[in-house]
Amino acid sequence: MSLILKYLKEEKRSELNKINILPENIANKIAAGEVVQRPESVVKELLENSIDAGATSIELIIRKAGKSLIQVCDNGCGMSEDDAILCLQKHATSKISTYEDLEAIMTLGFRGEALSAISAVSLLEIKTERPEDEIGTYIRLDEPGTIIKEKGSFPKGTIISIKNLFFNTPGRRNFLKSDATELKHIIDTFNKIALSKPEISFKLYVDNDVVYDYKEGSIENRIKEVFAENMFDALIPVGENTDFIKLNGYIGKPSLLKKNKGEQYLFLNKRFVISKQINHAVFTAYENFLEKGDYPFFILFLDIDPAKIDVNVHPTKLEVRFEDEKDVYNFVLAVIRKGLGSVDLVPSMTFRNPIFSPEESTEKLAVNKFSRTETNDFTDRPDYAKKSYAAADFSDKEIDLIFNTLPEMPKNTQARPDIPFEKPMTQILHQENRQPELFNRREVESFIIQLHNKYILSQIKTGLMIIDQHVAHERILYEKALKLYDADLRFSQPVLFPITIELDPAKFGLVKELNDYLNRIGFMIKFFSKNTIIIEGIPEDVKLGTEEKIFMEILDEYAYNQKEKKLEVLDNIAKSFSCKTAIKAGDYLSEKEMRNLIDQLFATSNPYVCPHGRPIVIKISLEEFDRRFGRTS
Ligand code: ADP
Ligand code: MG
Repeated sequence: MSLILKYLKEEKRSELNKINILPENIANKIAAGEVVQRPESVVKELLENSIDAGATSIELIIRKAGKSLIQVCDNGCGMSEDDAILCLQKHATSKISTYEDLEAIMTLGFRGEALSAISAVSLLEIKTERPEDEIGTYIRLDEPGTIIKEKGSFPKGTIISIKNLFFNTPGRRNFLKSDATELKHIIDTFNKIALSKPEISFKLYVDNDVVYDYKEGSIENRIKEVFAENMFDALIPVGENTDFIKLNGYIGKPSLLKKNKGEQYLFLNKRFVISKQINHAVFTAYENFLEKGDYPFFILFLDIDPAKIDVNVHPTKLEVRFEDEKDVYNFVLAVIRKGLGSVDLVPSMTFRNPIFSPEESTEKLAVNKFSRTETNDFTDRPDYAKKSYAAADFSDKEIDLIFNTLPEMPKNTQARPDIPFEKPMTQILHQENRQPELFNRREVESFIIQLHNKYILSQIKTGLMIIDQHVAHERILYEKALKLYDADLRFSQPVLFPITIELDPAKFGLVKELNDYLNRIGFMIKFFSKNTIIIEGIPEDVKLGTEEKIFMEILDEYAYNQKEKKLEVLDNIAKSFSCKTAIKAGDYLSEKEMRNLIDQLFATSNPYVCPHGRPIVIKISLEEFDRRFGRTS
């Protein structure tokens, strides 16, 4: 016994001393708190142990959101009788033995603390039998310290049951959230782990019901199982492998950005981790697609030599450090950028199956999460009640009907002289600085109509294309503003009668501050006496007669963006300008104007997503029409 303990035992300390050495069972409970925070943490540790044990089939059984039972059954390597007892000790692990091993961890566990921590705060039972053994081992740990051991015949592998979690730490037990919340955490973790190991079959039972039954297979298959059958409509594959670092997986199309966070899956050497740096790299790649509060979806598998990373930052091993942080960052950024530039980003419309059985409802929910076309369709149509009957009161169903009654166009449009055909304008020149060809301009053929003075409908080779005129123009003007700023030409259209505006002091200050930016995109402003400005020139896209109104709206929008979204100055100016100057829903466009708009749109760097991240173009394929009409050929 150490001198200190002896000293304490003999109670020689004075009444004034305040420090106590904690009894071991209390110290263990505290240490357990770091690893075991809630039922979900137990689930994570047990599933990871089964994976490390080489299991090909894992079942998780949950009762009362894990508060009464968490059981994991695997067909892994099992444990010998001695190991089954040893594994409950602190720092007992079969996964590393020397410090050097820490450098090259390929297993999920290595700290040897999960089972001991869990057993400190629950009733634990192990049934295990190795493939090579005739008979297995049963271990029960009722109170910490009292081990009951029996021999018995069990399935090959290991079954670990955790009952009454936190029964002896009421503080923690009371701290747990509702069953629904705790269960959600468990399901999230179960799915993350299932995604990381598609080669293993996973089954989840909740209160005796099978909730998930994932078969072993490819990652593509697992993604479909976890999310939805049509998940891949919303995803772009990415991949790049070098000798030192590999990145593979899927990222969400920009039009499917989400306002909630939890849809980023990063697996580092097959371990789910959270990395601010990697998130930042991915978010940066999405740059212009993102608004504040948007989060791109991704499932990425990053593989790096384990010696070059450190996952031993925190007991939960969720955090990670990279040795070559900058290189990893740049690699991820480049791969995601390339992925975003490589595919047709137009959301195509897929309609829900008419047959909707209750069994499918969970899956359909997931489907809807990722196909925003449903909500983006035509829900925010302006109210036409005051206009002519022809345009009034179209329900979504009727709009669908309009699409469905469009005449079938023959393949060769030249053969239809009755349809006026204007050659697309020749702004194709701009195309060389575009990303890989996303859209075949020749696709824009024959008919083009404006729907409700809001959407432009046009036939394309693969079916029908629908463009939202306001956001399309917004994208054009946004890029134009950025170009004008860069070019610094200060090109402006003089107004006939200079416009004098009296501003409040705050706005006056703002205009002064932004004058150089405003000037570069085409506003010529003179500062007159106190709080008064005179506008002498405007950008060519501002309609005559609306100068003052638009200018004031731009200032308001700028102030709003600055406060609410913390946009950078130039980005904010360009966004505010494009948003307020663009043609609006409700503006009539001639055919020539529509074609012009389409031409300019497809000369921009990203014709498919507006600066705020909303889709600009939606395509409905002929197959989709055929399917809806029951045409099978
Ligand atoms: P770690 O996973 O960090 O090694 P744990 O406390 O989680 O620590 O587990 C301790 C040891 O128990 C493991 O190293 C492993 O040898 C053994 N073990 C745990 N779960 C299983 C299992 N399902 N199958 C076989 N062995 C297991
Ligand atoms: Mg472990």
